[in-house]
Amino acid sequence: MTSAVVVGSGPNGLSAAVVLARAGVDVTVLEAEDEIGGGTRSAELNVPGVLHDICSAAHPTGVASPFFQSLGLERHGLEWLFPEVDAVHPLDGGRAGVLFQDLDRTVEALGVDGPAWRRLYEPLARHCDELTSEIFGPLIHVPRHPLLLAGFGLRALLPATVIARRWETDEARALFAGMAAHAVQPLQRPTTGGLGLMFGMTGHAYGWPVAKGGSQAISAALAADLAEHGGRIETGHRVTELPEADIVMFDTSPHTVLQVAGHRLPSRVSKPLTKWRTGPGIFKVDFAVEGGVPWANEWARKAGTVHVGGTLEEVNAAENHVHAGRMPERPFVLLCQQYLADPGRSAGDVHPVWSYAHVPTGHTGDVTEAIVAQIERFAPGFRDRVVAQTVSGPAQLEAHNANYLGGDIAGGSNDPWQLVMRPRMSPNPYSLGVKGLYICSASTPPGGGVHGMGGYNAATHALREL
Ligand SMILES: Cc1cc2nc3c(=O)[nH]c(=O)nc-3n(C[C@H](O)[C@H](O)[C@H](O)COP(=O)(O)OP(=O)(O)OC[C@H]3O[C@@H](n4cnc5c(N)ncnc54)[C@H](O)[C@@H]3O)c2cc1C
Repeated sequence: MTSAVVVGSGPNGLSAAVVLARAGVDVTVLEAEDEIGGGTRSAELNVPGVLHDICSAAHPTGVASPFFQSLGLERHGLEWLFPEVDAVHPLDGGRAGVLFQDLDRTVEALGVDGPAWRRLYEPLARHCDELTSEIFGPLIHVPRHPLLLAGFGLRALLPATVIARRWETDEARALFAGMAAHAVQPLQRPTTGGLGLMFGMTGHAYGWPVAKGGSQAISAALAADLAEHGGRIETGHRVTELPEADIVMFDTSPHTVLQVAGHRLPSRVSKPLTKWRTGPGIFKVDFAVEGGVPWANEWARKAGTVHVGGTLEEVNAAENHVHAGRMPERPFVLLCQQYLADPGRSAGDVHPVWSYAHVPTGHTGDVTEAIVAQIERFAPGFRDRVVAQTVSGPAQLEAHNANYLGGDIAGGSNDPWQLVMRPRMSPNPYSLGVKGLYICSASTPPGGGVHGMGGYNAATHALREL
């Protein structure tokens, strides 16, 4: 019987394990931490009964993932819950850009910019499934929908600032900027428009749901599917030497691949991995908030995700600072209110509020006050409602998950080169150039996010190569 060891139990590692186990391979997952899940873990961090997502929170890529859809994870308890509003980008004076799943509502709310929003997103949302089947894998490939992909790809290569020129109002421009800023790159850089397109497209096609009972429900469902097909998981097992197996699949950073298996790799593979660049980091604060966040904007009180950073120009200035290694005074902050869709995460009127700011790689300062000040700017009175908070800077994040080097949660810089050549230039970037060795983490296409597609693609390649 063919044997496989998967190093790491993040969503990509578990997805790879599921594909291999379903094909009859004898699979063992080795996880360094005491809990499975990597970026999909949840816990009561500071107030009993208040459940926080330790890493991922909102799941547009999860619900749109062709692989997750194919598995039927609902059988194993995964349930997507949808907030009334996907995302809101508040501005001063109580104004905001509002992303509803319903395109018509979004267009109406955007006023004069509504028609241009529709022209951009309506065709994308209509063809979301075809496009995800193209872009949730290696970008160097023979397309099945060449015209659709060309139409998407030519715009996705543009900087977010260029795409945003089609809108006049701060609301529409900021709404787009907040989505594009998930790239953690200056928005005048090529390819940053791509994430803005992808998040808007999946938002209108599928919504930005949360997982009932916390993001841990995603890893629990994948683990249950794996067990059903005979796979095993060992926690508390950090891999430092190459395991003996027909297939070894790394759900890790290229850095760990080099440490564990570098001596076996041909230089055409090890050289690009050595040059792999980490991106900026994040600083996370999990608040327990009595009565929720008192947003000045009504829709923000109903939104699963709130992008806190002001206008497009302000968000871009913050990202440029971070990229230059300087901590901005007003950082871009992502905030999630999962409890609005999943009330079981709260204890009475005390609610979990998830937030993080983009910071320079390895930043050692305390960013809590800057995050609180940004939220307070759009939600006066927030500070007084905080009953507890738990902070994790880049060092803590890396200690909690070896993949988050310097606090980079994206699996490596999303600069234009690494976005396309992830982690190296090859039609099969999952292969490590040695029979049976693969990498499947967020450092491979399609990159960061909870979708399992890196694991699915890598395992499918491995089975083909067997
Ligand atoms: C704070 C935060 C917020 C995020 N928010 C979102 C969000 O809202 N939506 C979204 O879609 N994504 C989000 N993400 C990103 C998402 O979580 C990741 O992109 C995703 O988890 C990557 O999956 P992965 O399987 O590649 O790696 P990971 O989930 O990082 O898992 C890797 C696993 O490998 C293990 N490992 C590493 N080295 C070894 C070793 N030597 N031996 C054994 N095990 C090892 C690690 O312990 C870890 O469990 C967020 C991430 C963080 C940290």
